[in-house]
Amino acid sequence: MVYFNKDYKGAYCMKNWKHFIFLAIIAIFGIVIAFTACDDGNKPCSHNWEWKVTTPATLEADGLETEICSICNETRGTRPIPKLELELVDKTYTITLKDDALEFVVEYKALETDEEPAYLAYLEERLVAMVASTGPANQDAIIGLLTKGNSFKIKVEYDDFYMGLVWNTTKQAFTVHNDWISIASGTSGDNALTLTMMREAFNSVEIE
Ligand SMILES: [Zn+2]
Repeated sequence: MVYFNKDYKGAYCMKNWKHFIFLAIIAIFGIVIAFTACDDGNKPCSHNWEWKVTTPATLEADGLETEICSICNETRGTRPIPKLELELVDKTYTITLKDDALEFVVEYKALETDEEPAYLAYLEERLVAMVASTGPANQDAIIGLLTKGNSFKIKVEYDDFYMGLVWNTTKQAFTVHNDWISIASGTSGDNALTLTMMREAFNSVEIE
């Protein structure tokens, strides 16, 4: 109707200008409304879907990603982001004794950014004491160990708890449990890495 306004005008020969102006105003409103409606309804967004992090994952909780249109911001779904895990890496710490004639390489796991665990200094301190020991049985154990090699691994283990430093023939390494060595201290008692414990471990070394 809006578009045929002129035709109506011509056809019916309006009686007065007021009527014409009234119709013209109605026509302008009609055109404006028609174009506005066209913009909203006739040009749907073609959508460009992208996953965006809406809640970052933390160490304590999952995060969330939302699929969102980069053009109109409409959303159509979400998915969780698994919570962060601390990634342990393999590290080593070398203890050299007897003017480099004997070496122990401690293999352990830690975060990339971690400082050296305190037990490394304790292990070193106790091995130094063992090598310095003047007890004949301890000296024999060290001499015996040196006949089997000059470099030995000490693997720090994290499963199945046990106490003390032991030789593991299958692994061809000394092993010690993280939970025990982490609290070990002193020179005697169950919580200490004693000379006797080291002597027995040294004496049970079997190289394959
Ligand atoms: Zn869109």
